[in-house]
Amino acid sequence: MGATILIVEDEPGIQEVLRFNLNQNGHDTLIAGDAEHAWAMLREVMPDVLLVDWMLPGMSGIDLTRRVRADSRLKDLPIIMLTARVEERDKILGLDSGADDYLSKPFSPRELLARIKAVLRRRAPQMMETPVEIGSLRLDPVGHRVTGNELLIELGPTEFRLLHFFMTHAERVYSRSQLLDHVWGDHVFVEERTVDVHIRRLRGALEPSGHAGLIQTVRGAGYRLSVQ
Ligand code: CA
Repeated sequence: MGATILIVEDEPGIQEVLRFNLNQNGHDTLIAGDAEHAWAMLREVMPDVLLVDWMLPGMSGIDLTRRVRADSRLKDLPIIMLTARVEERDKILGLDSGADDYLSKPFSPRELLARIKAVLRRRAPQMMETPVEIGSLRLDPVGHRVTGNELLIELGPTEFRLLHFFMTHAERVYSRSQLLDHVWGDHVFVEERTVDVHIRRLRGALEPSGHAGLIQTVRGAGYRLSVQ
């Protein structure tokens, strides 16, 4: 499953190599040439992974990482930091900036993709391709199929992503704004009531197999998937 990756890198050549390799492997890319621009973009979009160069003009990659980790909305965003040399990498590890992983330049595309997969597995299980099961409800991300009690459940693309997110984050409450970030990747240009519309559709689709009750409204807080 393709992720949206925000690349924060000032060197056009490396930007291009990253963009090319990520796009070739089914990921979408966003590009910022410096940390200030990246920070402004993060006010509007929620990528699945932040790929940030340590050495940037102006605010450093480390400062950007610290800022992201200190932000209540962004704090769980997977971050991979790019470093120019092994010595820098060692220094950076000592600084404990809050990145999930570090990659030294030059790196092979294979290594980059493997690291991205690893951070997504840890931090964003809804990005993974393994089927998820909750009771008699089963979602297969690769086949794009949902079944409930052996019944095929037809879902639109948004309802599918919404259900996948809920099934990989069961028993936790998410506000409309958090769902917009995690499922739509955007909490600025999409209205919060859009979430309600898709929740209603999702419940409607889950009704015939008897799973509509899994999607619960938590008054004043948002929604959650719960088996209780
Ligand atoms: Ca740089």
